Amino acid sequence: MNMFELLAQSARRSPQRGAVYRGTEQVWTYGQLCDRARRLATALRRHGQPGDRVAVASENRTEYLEAMYGIWAAGMVFVPINAKLHAKEMVQILEDAEANAVFVSPKLADDLASALRGSPQAGCRLLRIGSADYAALFDNAPMDAPITEPEALAWLFYTSGTTGRSKGAMLSHRNLMAMTISHLAEMETFGEDASQIHAAPMSHGSGLYIPAYIARGARQVLPTSGAFDPAEFLDLCDAHPSCGAFLAPTMVQRLRLEAERSARRPAHLRSIVYGGAPMYVEELKKSLATFGAVFTQLYGQGEAPMTITALRRHEHIGADDATLGSAGTPRLGMDVRVVDDEGRPCPVDAIGEIVCRGDVVMSGYWRNPKATAEALRDGWLYTGDMGSFDAHGRLTLRDRSKDVVISGGSNIYPREVEEALLTHPEVSEACVVGEPDAEWGEVVVAFVVPMEGAAPSCDALDAHCLDHIARFKRPKRYVFIDALPKSNYGKVLKRELRLRLAQTRADAPA
Ligand code: AMP
Repeated sequence: MNMFELLAQSARRSPQRGAVYRGTEQVWTYGQLCDRARRLATALRRHGQPGDRVAVASENRTEYLEAMYGIWAAGMVFVPINAKLHAKEMVQILEDAEANAVFVSPKLADDLASALRGSPQAGCRLLRIGSADYAALFDNAPMDAPITEPEALAWLFYTSGTTGRSKGAMLSHRNLMAMTISHLAEMETFGEDASQIHAAPMSHGSGLYIPAYIARGARQVLPTSGAFDPAEFLDLCDAHPSCGAFLAPTMVQRLRLEAERSARRPAHLRSIVYGGAPMYVEELKKSLATFGAVFTQLYGQGEAPMTITALRRHEHIGADDATLGSAGTPRLGMDVRVVDDEGRPCPVDAIGEIVCRGDVVMSGYWRNPKATAEALRDGWLYTGDMGSFDAHGRLTLRDRSKDVVISGGSNIYPREVEEALLTHPEVSEACVVGEPDAEWGEVVVAFVVPMEGAAPSCDALDAHCLDHIARFKRPKRYVFIDALPKSNYGKVLKRELRLRLAQTRADAPA
């Protein structure tokens, strides 16, 4: 069983259907996409074997699709690389994966080529998208995809590396198939006449949802900007039928602000799956008011791609804050628990580490037995996320265990403080971190992005927090900034905020 089969089946059923679009223009039909992938596979196999790793370093573009399916048709392993990484970080991934080749977009090619020089992986072939050599890859005869064992590696998912060097979560064809079936069963309902708009990076969430849309014979739509432009997103939702997209929470907010600013509502927006970072209740309520009941929340991680729990679409309708602030209930086929330090299940409402098991869970980290043994214990994936189940079986995520602030011996979960700050009318974004403190161990520091034109005072925010959360949880200090530092995947980089605090301390006169 090879993920490529989903494309081959759709191409057999409906070869003439439009598969890939750049903006509003149709680029390839299903027949053409499948044929191109099979030709590419022949080219890849000239220089490599099934099981070899082939990377893709590119912003979102149409060629991503033929590269992904060409790699699978060759029986090789797809290794997407976040296009926003530094070329040296990309080389680290190529070295760790011992990549045989890398597809690289014109924008990234020169930097990657020079960073690769002198690397032990210098022999890794650079396939420059858009070059004459690239076009020639399709002159090969199309090959038949090999029969692949379900356990064979399909995708090496490099974690964002917020805690040191990035690790490759090993995802098999079986893992990806389980993710795809679960997605089609309970996350989105659509048929052939639907479109997936790639607004978020295809190296991550948006890419993981490609197989579900390909299995249905639906459209893949690539914004011409190659990035997320809210106005363009609204245009595409007018131009294509039954549109769905995966968006990080910060993208949902940008989309809402644009829809409100331009007084536009997308004509054919069917579904937004959001997740990958906290969606704050206030923002979710505003987005529901603007776009209606199009939202489904996922909670997942690269190690259990897109599939641990979900807050389903209908559960958003008329929901109370506790429901909207939760990550919903376990996904089909997943066992999810919250456990204490000894690995014992926690009682209702008690906070512990979230663990899960099921067919989507990775088999381990690529060539990293130590990290694998830490993450996979007794058949369970230890997610590193803290959370609690309520009496209705809903999981509420707190924070990554390393982000919990311990002040005066009490655990403070930053998200709770952030949620409180975000209900203040003059606060646009907030992020809470712990700062080392001689007296308290750590103290709570809040970074606040004010609403445009607003300048909330520390006293006003303090009074607001006292109204909403326990006294000991409120920030000891506020830092006002114009924007929060975020990764390409829309996650706030808390590590950078902590570094800023450390820098300020170091610079302060003794
Ligand atoms: P990644 O492996 O890059 O997809 O990151 C996964 C991490 O993102 C998880 O372990 C969580 O910490 C966070 N995350 C994912 N989904 C959600 C969600 N719905 N709400 C809050 N945080 C989330």
